[in-house]
Amino acid sequence: MSFHNPNSILHSSGKISVYRLLNFCNCGLVSFSFASRRSTVNGFTKLYYNTNTFLRQQNSTLVSEELYKTDHLVIGAGVVGLAVGFTLARRGKSVLLVEKNPSFGQETSSRNSGVIHAGLYYPKEFLKTKLCIEGNGLLYEYLNKYSLPHNRIGKWVVAPKSERKIPTSANNGGFVRNTRCFQELLNDSQYLQQLNTKSQQLGVPTEFLSSKEFNSSEISKVLNAQSVLVSPTTGILDQREYMQSLLFNAELAGADYFSHTSVKRIEPLGSNSGFKVYMESLGSQFEVHAQTVINCAGLYADQVSNMIGTNLVTTNNRSKSLNSKCANSDNKSLRGEIKDDDLVKKQYFYKGTYYTYVSDSARDKPDLSRLINRLIYPIPDKNLGSLGIHLTKTIDGRIMFGPDLEMVERNDDFSVNSNNLETFLEQIKVYLPEIQKHNLQLDYCGIRPKLGNSKSTPLDFIIERSFSMYGITGFINLLGIESPGLTSSLAIGKYIENMLY
Ligand SMILES: Cc1cc2nc3c(=O)[nH]c(=O)nc-3n(C[C@H](O)[C@H](O)[C@H](O)COP(=O)(O)OP(=O)(O)OC[C@H]3O[C@@H](n4cnc5c(N)ncnc54)[C@H](O)[C@@H]3O)c2cc1C
Repeated sequence: MSFHNPNSILHSSGKISVYRLLNFCNCGLVSFSFASRRSTVNGFTKLYYNTNTFLRQQNSTLVSEELYKTDHLVIGAGVVGLAVGFTLARRGKSVLLVEKNPSFGQETSSRNSGVIHAGLYYPKEFLKTKLCIEGNGLLYEYLNKYSLPHNRIGKWVVAPKSERKIPTSANNGGFVRNTRCFQELLNDSQYLQQLNTKSQQLGVPTEFLSSKEFNSSEISKVLNAQSVLVSPTTGILDQREYMQSLLFNAELAGADYFSHTSVKRIEPLGSNSGFKVYMESLGSQFEVHAQTVINCAGLYADQVSNMIGTNLVTTNNRSKSLNSKCANSDNKSLRGEIKDDDLVKKQYFYKGTYYTYVSDSARDKPDLSRLINRLIYPIPDKNLGSLGIHLTKTIDGRIMFGPDLEMVERNDDFSVNSNNLETFLEQIKVYLPEIQKHNLQLDYCGIRPKLGNSKSTPLDFIIERSFSMYGITGFINLLGIESPGLTSSLAIGKYIENMLY
């Protein structure tokens, strides 16, 4: 069977009573949902379909007409939405995964370092730490099971020879909670000691490299290192292949996937009654019914959350004016204690740019791509806004440097420029002093969604049931899913499964 126009078969002609939402999985499997009737109310089409995917239809001649209903609607097919969709579909639940772009994973999920983090850096009590450590194990298990390209090449965190004093609070990986406390200074090597102790406590393997091992390695010729902490469980993967596999397996487990489909409006239908969700696909509008909605919209997660939240502000303000009358109520909303900020979310955006390493071999200097076969990280950036400009290897053996950290207004501007090249170079030279401008070729960027506009506070992931104080029970919000979201993806899927079941 061949279809020439994937994802574009949502006919708008009123005469056509049968239309298909078709998706291609690049692995060669084709699946589609078969919508059999529609009706239009207030400009939105009610999507009716036979509730079976094509694969399941092979065994079924019974085609029932009903409004498209799903147990779980997952908004966004980045790596997190795909992992959540896969986990819930595997459980035997009906899952609809929608993506506004033509294909999955075109935003943050394919614009990162591609590193499988071990979980060393973040404060111990952070959800990020737990999900990263668990996600690391689950990810390797998954990649091995499906023979997907990855490499556990390990990471070296390097304290350079010329010792700098750095604020404890900024770089202690969570030992001091007050991030504004700059009195106690650690030098880089002390920082590594603390990181090692903390990793041991978290059960994350790390060890110091002996000077003998370091000096006998080829890399010692180019690396400026006083001490090196090795993280053997850090690795790299091919993000695209991983996401493709998640989609394939989610569909195989029965999930439906609509790309080119953007969620426009969400209407809660009251306690335990689910949601009416209004969507748009290639100029056509339709609605579906979802029992629960899981917001995995990445850089747009605040906008999706606000589709419900902003409407509740009016209700909340009405409650506030009744405040005095209900002062003794158990209900926070009736007591007027809910702040607008709790309802309306805002993410801030931080761009990170990457440069590809260009070898110097023609100038009789060592080719670092051949010399270096692991990830090299500096002592992290103040307050963990980023892990610092590191050296990462791609699965095909190239070296990339990045990302830096630049606050930006827009969440959709992926253009790159070399304005920060000087600072970039300076930071790399701390551990690779011989790198020159001509070794760096501007490449791509990614944008981190963060839940704060200050670089001075380490921020955690937010994964919560939102708006339950208004009787809305099935809306799960994922906000601020920056690094290490790729590593944590399967653990996030499991975490959400545990929240729901
Ligand atoms: C520079 C950088 C480097 C990083 N490096 C690493 C790393 O090495 N290791 C690691 O573990 N993590 C890393 N991360 C973090 C990781 O990339 C992210 O946490 C992860 O990709 C987030 O995935 P996501 O699915 O939440 O978001 P996204 O990939 O952004 O996916 C969200 C999807 O939702 C869709 N969407 C939005 N709104 C709607 C709507 N209304 N309707 C339908 N669809 C919608 C979007 O189109 C998008 O495809 C890095 C991040 C950055 C920015």
